[in-house]
Amino acid sequence: MFLHEKIYDLDELARYNTHMHTRFSHCAAREMKAKSIIKAAEKAGLEIIALTDHNYPDEKNMVAEQKKIIYKQIKDIETPVKVLIGAELSSYDIGKFADDIECDNSLDWRLYTTNHFHQKYWVHPAEKTPRAYCEHMLAIMDKVIESGRADAFAHPFMAKYISCFDDFRIVTAAFTDNEIGDIIEKANVKEITWELNVPAIFGDPVFHRRYFNIGREAGAVFNIGTDAHKLKDIDTHRFLPELKKILC
Ligand SMILES: [Zn+2]
Ligand SMILES: [Zn+2]
Repeated sequence: MFLHEKIYDLDELARYNTHMHTRFSHCAAREMKAKSIIKAAEKAGLEIIALTDHNYPDEKNMVAEQKKIIYKQIKDIETPVKVLIGAELSSYDIGKFADDIECDNSLDWRLYTTNHFHQKYWVHPAEKTPRAYCEHMLAIMDKVIESGRADAFAHPFMAKYISCFDDFRIVTAAFTDNEIGDIIEKANVKEITWELNVPAIFGDPVFHRRYFNIGREAGAVFNIGTDAHKLKDIDTHRFLPELKKILC
């Protein structure tokens, strides 16, 4: 699902933040209550936010239950902010999904991650080379696109969680321009949004400049996701100066 048309102006894109974690995610601060998040988003002048908690393999489909709880917590709040209750879902191997499709479809925003390689259950390519990781990630993304389960990709192409190389950026450097352009074009047909993930961009600026350039040529619909785990990181605007330096 596209939330808006193609926007390549970062000031405009900063009106939306489609990746943040409530306290249901084990890694998020306790202050990340849905109510407090909405207040912070309102103060920041955001128009749309998406709550995207992690799923956990031992709690299959739990994000659908959490959505019902969060909905109850916020249904009476009057706010101009449009709140999507979604999840950061996992495709941990080619064609493998951590939750059932009914769970995914009950969510307002299905943000799919294809590269949480630090998780124990995540499947790595047989060969531990940068190219093998590129091909593996592309194959996972390809199946996610075909599955129709996703509205967006979380930190696409990111290699931060691959720990077998001295510098993980060797992996993102090994993606070809054509591969990046082709998968973006394929995703466009299914209305899948490409995330500009703030921590991922700061951690690998050279690649993300290339990704933003190729994405614009390929007609990608981008969204900024700050991946906020703390209230102070909900406001997209505070990252804009640094984002502009890297991407523009
Ligand atoms: Zn993630
Ligand atoms: Zn996240």
